[in-house]
Amino acid sequence: MNIHEYQGKEILRNYGVMVPNGKVAFTVEEAVEAAKQLGTKVCVVKAQIHAGGRGKAGGVKVAKNLEEVRTYANEILGKTLVTHQTGPEGKEVKRLLIEEGCDIKKEYYVGLVLDRATSRVVLMASEEGGTEIEEVAEKTPEKIFKEEIDPAIGLQPFQARRIAFNINIPTELVNQAVKFMTGLYNAYIENDCSIAEINPLVVTGDGKVMALDAKLNFDANALYRQKDILAFRDLEEEDPKEIEASKYDLSYVALDGNIGCMVNGAGLAMSTMDIINHYGGDPANFLDVGGGATAEKVTEAFKIILSDPNVKGIFVNIFGGIMKCDVIAEGVVEAAKQVGLSVPLVVRLEGTNVDLGKKILAESSVEIVAAESMADGAQKIVSLVK
Ligand code: ADP
Ligand code: MG
Repeated sequence: MNIHEYQGKEILRNYGVMVPNGKVAFTVEEAVEAAKQLGTKVCVVKAQIHAGGRGKAGGVKVAKNLEEVRTYANEILGKTLVTHQTGPEGKEVKRLLIEEGCDIKKEYYVGLVLDRATSRVVLMASEEGGTEIEEVAEKTPEKIFKEEIDPAIGLQPFQARRIAFNINIPTELVNQAVKFMTGLYNAYIENDCSIAEINPLVVTGDGKVMALDAKLNFDANALYRQKDILAFRDLEEEDPKEIEASKYDLSYVALDGNIGCMVNGAGLAMSTMDIINHYGGDPANFLDVGGGATAEKVTEAFKIILSDPNVKGIFVNIFGGIMKCDVIAEGVVEAAKQVGLSVPLVVRLEGTNVDLGKKILAESSVEIVAAESMADGAQKIVSLVK
């Protein structure tokens, strides 16, 4: 799950990471009022969307007085920002962060991510801040420094110091930088983050180490124990189909193909997408109905798949382990009746109670193409949508 920059900064502040003072604003009037309350000479008006690259797209403006705050707030609120992270359709700005202007001496990059190969959190940093880190990684990888963190003992001060020296933080500010990185690491661990990226971290004219931007992502599987984080969720930033799916505890990701997939288990869902691709088709979604799918859940899953106008056929691929095939078959039949299927439906069942499941499908009035295997099902649905 993503949150906005201003929310990320609120979290970081609680961990002793220095951030500029700022206030969120939903209207132009609120923006001007926020700037008045900040009382600083220079204010920055920042678009709050769940995507980076706002600066280049005109979503970050420096205002020298209240009139300019009004002008920029007017300009940015309601605007659709297209950045390299939003996709071509862009994202509409509905919130602003009004923040005190910062006297930047130099911009750096600091980030924490999970390295899946080592199963450890890695602290990454570079002297080349402010720009796209992907570009630095590609062109000058030697300018990115990494420290792998042992989960048993956490980020060690010597590691933070080594990073600070490697990226040439001024010597007299190294201790501040260490405090910054330690706070960032604690925020990452305690809140179950998947990414914590500060680009830029800045050194200011008056000798402070600060986070000017904050991108925090959270592990969705840990949200059940992160109620405070869940409160930061902004549904307006998410795909409506994905929101609907999450209400029913379905893992759904919209894609741009035309074959809707309903599968149990994330691994099987991935290989189902692969095999559809293998036979020349394109999946319209990733969907894992999970182990305990009920008829109701299956119905909702169908509705979500069918609400996508691109879907020209559905492939149900179920391996009954904990899940029994007859329950799935009943769910599929019920859902097909309720939703009124208008596209071809291929079903492949295997595992617990498979014979009973097949019997239910065969005896139903719903038009279902039965598949003998995963490969058979994939070939059938690909040829049916063509
Ligand atoms: P994005 O990464 O989406 O472009 P940032 O928050 O990194 O957005 O802002 C882009 C640039 O704007 C920063 O690299 C920095 O140079 C400048 N900037 C952002 N916030 C401030 C601030 N409070 N004071 C001064 N400059 C800022
Ligand atoms: Mg940034």
